[in-house]
Amino acid sequence: MKDAPIARISLGLIGIGLVLAVTNSLVNSVALSNKIYFIATVQLAIALLFAVRLNKPDRAVWPVLLLIVLCSSVAQIFDGTFTAQPSLQAIPESLFLVVQLLLASGLLFIVSRRLGSDPLSVLVDGLIVALGAWFFIWKVLLQPTIGTQSITPLISVIQGSTLGISAIVLFTLATLLFGDSTRSASVWLVTGAISLTLFGDFLYAANDAGRIDITSTYSSTAYIFGLFLASAAFIHPSISLLTERGPILTQRPLMGRLIVTTAALILPVVVLALTNPVDSVDRVVQTISIFVLTAAVTSRIIHSVRANAATQHQLIESAQTDALTGLPNRSLMLALVNNSLITAMTEGRKPTVLFIDVDRFKNINDSLGHQAGDAVLIAVAQRLRNALPHRCAVARISGDEFVVLDPDTQDSSDAMQLANRVLESFYEPLNLRQGDVFVSASIGVSSFDPSITSTADDLLRHADTAMYRAKDAGRNCVAVFDESMLERVTQRLAIETALYRALERRELRLVHQPIVDIDMGDVVGFEALMRWQRDDGTMLSPAEFIPIAEETGTIVPLGAWALLEALTHLRGWITQGICRSDATMSVNVSPRQLHDPNFVAVVNEALLRAHVPPEQLWLEVTESVMIAQPEQALDALNALCALGVRIAIDDFGTGYSSLSLLQKFPIQRLKIDKSFVNGVAQDESARSLVRTIIAMGDSLGLDMVAEGIESVEQLQILAEMKCAKAQGFLISHPVPPESMGSTIASLNSFGAWNKLRGKKS
Ligand code: C2E
Ligand code: MG
Ligand code: MG
Repeated sequence: MKDAPIARISLGLIGIGLVLAVTNSLVNSVALSNKIYFIATVQLAIALLFAVRLNKPDRAVWPVLLLIVLCSSVAQIFDGTFTAQPSLQAIPESLFLVVQLLLASGLLFIVSRRLGSDPLSVLVDGLIVALGAWFFIWKVLLQPTIGTQSITPLISVIQGSTLGISAIVLFTLATLLFGDSTRSASVWLVTGAISLTLFGDFLYAANDAGRIDITSTYSSTAYIFGLFLASAAFIHPSISLLTERGPILTQRPLMGRLIVTTAALILPVVVLALTNPVDSVDRVVQTISIFVLTAAVTSRIIHSVRANAATQHQLIESAQTDALTGLPNRSLMLALVNNSLITAMTEGRKPTVLFIDVDRFKNINDSLGHQAGDAVLIAVAQRLRNALPHRCAVARISGDEFVVLDPDTQDSSDAMQLANRVLESFYEPLNLRQGDVFVSASIGVSSFDPSITSTADDLLRHADTAMYRAKDAGRNCVAVFDESMLERVTQRLAIETALYRALERRELRLVHQPIVDIDMGDVVGFEALMRWQRDDGTMLSPAEFIPIAEETGTIVPLGAWALLEALTHLRGWITQGICRSDATMSVNVSPRQLHDPNFVAVVNEALLRAHVPPEQLWLEVTESVMIAQPEQALDALNALCALGVRIAIDDFGTGYSSLSLLQKFPIQRLKIDKSFVNGVAQDESARSLVRTIIAMGDSLGLDMVAEGIESVEQLQILAEMKCAKAQGFLISHPVPPESMGSTIASLNSFGAWNKLRGKKS
């Protein structure tokens, strides 16, 4: 059967129970009341049997429930039938006691299984409720009836025990509701059923004690409705989860819990204030009860205070630790550096901070995935901890950046030693689940110097600045902070701001370097190189401002300007007959431009506006383009090729591209980097490397250009190696466009090329 219809049966039972209970109290007839009670008991028995088959019963709980129903039915049937023989009345009374005992132990069992994350506080709160109830039961029901009733002392003891155990039942009910486990429908129904039964017991006992004067039909109304609620609970599908810890409640029942426990605490206080102990037994019971209650409240307060302190501690800790590596985070590291600065000033110590950045971490994330990236960070954290002495603190302050604080270094060689220790700790590969991974780090070192360091932030910032210097120096190395670096940072900031305005102020220029066909000596093309003539008269080389333009994104408009400008120059030279009509223009393109969605349109527009055919434009990109975000780059390069534009790989040999990448990308030219060309004259290994590059390029059908040729010897060797084209200071420095005519003329002058190649003309 499906859950929804069964839940509806439960609802139906509650409805029937309500109708019968109301009828019972309205009609107020003992005969009818007995009949309704009988119906209620029978339906409960049937519901129980039905429920055992329907819902997955917990073996431990169901027999107890059956026994409870059986005992209470039998007890109810015989209750009142032995009024003539008071000694036999002990039988139903004992059965009621058994029911109460079973109920209490059954509930205790359920509670023990469902106790949440904070069992002690729940148990103590339950105990406070039970003690309050017990105090009330004692003062109102038990104590006044002692020795005054017409019943035998045995029955009096049994009834007293039954009522006493009610307090335990209340205790378990309270703990059931106070926990942080989700309370299902059956939990509420069971609670309702037991509460009504206890209420019935109370009315019954209060009536017996002469406290109130009502007929037994009213107390049986509570029992009847309770029995129906019980069967509704057993039938409900959620009963099968009664003994399990449900999902944790997001909002704990704090308010309800507070109200109930406070009421349970106030109750004894009010009773005590209004009454005096009647006799010595009363005094003893009151004293013990109040003593236990006070103990429970005290332990509850102690527990709460401790739990509060622990939570606070946990909160502070989690706010100061990095969740991934468990290391302190930036805020804690700042506090530690701050502390060490305070002691440094008072005790003359010299704290040192290392700023460590994992090299090319983005590549690891991009190529191996974020999980591997996380694993690398965890492994790096472990490495650092193992490599460093105990006095050092290690923190992860963001992404792939770690900071080490040595609170007491003697001198700069100490600091350097520490940094080298960290650097060396990266030499061994990191063993990850994904396989062994080699990583390196760039480290910036900054030691406390009272003349330039005043805050923790200063020390960290200086180490950070030095780390950037280490990155610039080629990564996998250590750089120690010095004041000149601060100047560089300010300078860089100034360049960054001025660069935004350089275009509109017309401070940028292009110079061009001819590219020559080695065999013929003809100038077959040019490379456009950017220069920045600042308003203060200084000339900046691209190495100084292109990286900043790339970082800030200014390279996109700068690059677009350079394209149109270069092609316009070429068009002018061709028109003026300065160069061949099929001469080409090479323009450098940075990855940032290539990834700009408008780039292809920008190139197309420049070609159209300058009236240059696309095959006369070479775009120079570096190998890095093929490595970072290769798919995006491939799309852009394919679109450019479709236009007819050709692509050259610049500075070939300095990146890490593979042969397969060269085949995959639409490339038509390789430019051998000047660092290899430099060595060909002296160094055999450089010679064989260049020979291999040329052979490989030839086999792939690529046009080969050697960059940075500075000597005749280099040119001769490259000519022997059958390198197609050459570019370098030997042939011509980059020149302004207006000088190109004379430059080409001198190159074309009779015998000039042969002279350059060292041949006799
Ligand atoms: P690159 O594209 O490899 O340009 C060649 C660089 O080598 C130029 O430096 C050039 O002046 C220099 N060079 C040429 N022949 C010789 C030689 O015989 N010996 C030596 N030592 N150097 C030689 P430059 O002009 O300083 O440009 C540096 C780099 O800046 C360029 O390298 C290029 O990557 C970048 N760059 C220049 N202009 C632009 C541009 O408009 N856009 C972009 N994105 N990058 C540019
Ligand atoms: Mg270039
Ligand atoms: Mg180059």
